[in-house]
Amino acid sequence: GLPLTLSQVRKTYRMGQHVIPALQGVDLQVRQGQLLALTGPSGSGKSTLLNICGLIDAPDAGQVLFQGEHVDVNDVIAATLRRRDGIGFVFQNFNLVPVMNVFENVEYPLFVAGVPSGERRARVLTILEEVGLGEHARHRPDALSGGQRQRVAIARALVKQPALVIADEPTASLDTVTAGQMLDLMRASAHKHGAAFLIASHDERLTRRADRVIALRDGVIVPSDEERPCLA
Ligand code: ADP
Ligand code: ADP
Repeated sequence: GLPLTLSQVRKTYRMGQHVIPALQGVDLQVRQGQLLALTGPSGSGKSTLLNICGLIDAPDAGQVLFQGEHVDVNDVIAATLRRRDGIGFVFQNFNLVPVMNVFENVEYPLFVAGVPSGERRARVLTILEEVGLGEHARHRPDALSGGQRQRVAIARALVKQPALVIADEPTASLDTVTAGQMLDLMRASAHKHGAAFLIASHDERLTRRADRVIALRDGVIVPSDEERPCLA
């Protein structure tokens, strides 16, 4: 099945007497190898949508299918966690562990997943080469540039060969050359491994080159949804 399908997803927050409709019936299909950019003003529901797509929050109504299988985040904790294994996350502030070097940061998800050390080592070294960080395996994050840290974050998201990568403003803090390299890297990875990327971004350097741009406004996808041919 498709990496991810949402149908009629709704989410409402309640704060005391206040009812805040964050998502009001979102339909979304994320295809394999596709780089999908998610835009929209602050408060339009982007974070809520990323959390639901990342299986870390449940909608109030509607359906979430991950790789063709229905996901109920509330009911089936173990099964959901197993599926979440198929998702990589890239956070805006990178979320690298400062006391771990580059190798250890990227290795960590494999360690948690119980992958044996020999295989961990091989997979980490392969992905570090792929993102151009082969020479930096022993460096701590604080010895790296912003672009290099972002590469570590992407390597860590990709090391388990996820079906879906979710990224929140991954290029916001990067200069244009580095942002371009980052985009090339995500594209190459999407096309090589078939991973789908769902990226919240206002960065025109990114949205211009996405396979598809989805705009949220007041919790709905606005009709300007622009589809571009996928280069895969
Ligand atoms: P502007 O941001 O100048 O109003 P738009 O009308 O294109 O330009 O933006 C629509 C909405 O998207 C804005 O209300 C703003 O919240 C958000 N937005 C646009 N660009 C950015 C940006 N670079 N960073 C954060 N939010 C942005
Ligand atoms: P975006 O990421 O586009 O800024 P969000 O998904 O964070 O949008 O928020 C959508 C709406 O839901 C906003 O009105 C926001 O204030 C509200 N909201 C988000 N998270 C919470 C929360 N935990 N509790 C209450 N309201 C929330």
